[in-house]
Amino acid sequence: MTQPSQTPFERWVETAHNLGSRSPQSVACPCCGSTSLSVRDVEYGFGHEKGVQRYISCGCCGAFTGVNVKRAGEAKAYAVRAAG
Ligand SMILES: [Zn+2]
Repeated sequence: MTQPSQTPFERWVETAHNLGSRSPQSVACPCCGSTSLSVRDVEYGFGHEKGVQRYISCGCCGAFTGVNVKRAGEAKAYAVRAAG
């Protein structure tokens, strides 16, 4: 059976970034390869300390990981999405 702990964390970071620009239905779970991912972004801090923790869970294999996606590019993407 597939175990979440065997998936390198960098794979989750890559997945988190992909989820920032694509819909969860088009991003494969780094653990089992299914597209059953659920995403929840939680903002924390304020000002220059502000960031986003992206929690990713897989409805197929049950993997769950939180990735810090504090990035200027991400913030810009959110701004564009909010404006649209
Ligand atoms: Zn999975």
